[in-house]
Amino acid sequence: DQSVCAPLPVLGRDVTVPLVTGGEVTYAALDYAASAPALQRVWDDVAAYAPYYGSVHRGAGYLSQLSTDLFENARRTVAEFLDCRTGDQVVFTRSTTDSLNLLAAALPDGCEVFVFETEHHASLLPWRDARVTYLDAPDSPRRAVETLEHALAGRDPHGPALVCVTGASNVTGELWPVRELAAAAHAHGARIVLDAAQLAPHHPVSVRELDVDWVAFSGHKLYAPFGSGVLAGRSDWLREAEPYLAGGGASRTVTRRADGGVDVEWHDSAARHEAGSPNVIGAYAVASACKALTEAGFDTLIAREEQLIRTVREGLADVPEVRFLSLFGDAPRVGVLSFVVEGWNSSHFAAALSAEYGIGVRDGLFCAHPLVRTLLGSDPQSQGECGAPEAAPGEKSLNAIRVSFGAGTPDEHVERFVRAVR
Ligand code: PMP
Repeated sequence: DQSVCAPLPVLGRDVTVPLVTGGEVTYAALDYAASAPALQRVWDDVAAYAPYYGSVHRGAGYLSQLSTDLFENARRTVAEFLDCRTGDQVVFTRSTTDSLNLLAAALPDGCEVFVFETEHHASLLPWRDARVTYLDAPDSPRRAVETLEHALAGRDPHGPALVCVTGASNVTGELWPVRELAAAAHAHGARIVLDAAQLAPHHPVSVRELDVDWVAFSGHKLYAPFGSGVLAGRSDWLREAEPYLAGGGASRTVTRRADGGVDVEWHDSAARHEAGSPNVIGAYAVASACKALTEAGFDTLIAREEQLIRTVREGLADVPEVRFLSLFGDAPRVGVLSFVVEGWNSSHFAAALSAEYGIGVRDGLFCAHPLVRTLLGSDPQSQGECGAPEAAPGEKSLNAIRVSFGAGTPDEHVERFVRAVR
């Protein structure tokens, strides 16, 4: 198929791991949803820059100026990648979790928050200081929009409100109707933040087209190394908020008052929330990954990933013990699939995939406990996690197995996975 590209070169392609059955095999990294391997191109970019890095916004020396330029250019690259509006801010953070906690700390007084119970904990939990309405798991994208509309209809449209929604589920991989949810939010005077941790590595994200107010994502899921994330979007709430971290870089001037205290004037720009010496290598790596994915072209990346999804679905369709988890049925998804195998403890199953086949998947509740418990139909109080006790024969599983892949996944990894499960 001409439209399907070859896997992009990533780190770790030649890593071999021992098998309990003897010998060794190349590692099949099928846990991209947790952390994707870095693109070779990103790694090379970082290595080429590393000898030149210096302090950002702080030094008069040539390398400090160079690093400051690269850091600010990285911001522009990310803004382009996300198709941001004029005036939007791109704040470099540590991760999606950090980005959403930053936004939570910047909510205006009295802000209400609406969030589906199906969210990853990073989107579910940061709003604890606000008035939060948790929305029930919908059974279709349309029901998601109706549920949100119904919840928003009851609120005072003059007060501030924020909807937080994921673009692609880290459990089922299913795509959420972001544009429609954004329209519903705006129709009721609310704003919306998109958790794009799982969406941005797989699909183009356009702030303008989706009409979302903010987007958050993590570098380590977007084929860059750890330690960097992004919050991008409207500047007003961010500019009016207290700095997320207080310190150098966020403050424009600090003066001692006559009464002995200290007055601070904070920056209005993204620097307001980036106190301390910024992670210039991380920002540079994220920008490099944004460029690499754009150049590879999302159309071909999506075509390839859909082919891999078909390999899994069709390869296991006639194995009755395998049950895939989904909220929306056969809806479009990214390369993230969770399942249970009847008669098996998911943790043992995942351990066997590793020990006997050199395949790395994830087991557990995937930091989305309410969603996974809903999908498994298990008791909300059950303690299913990694290493959960064996479900007795006939009992429901307490946790699940997740296989996930992306731009760097060779066909052989997915084919080996299907063979191993069979
Ligand atoms: N949201 C979603 C949908 C995720 O999948 C994850 C990571 N599993 C996060 C947020 C949190 O990302 P991070 O751990 O990089 O902060």
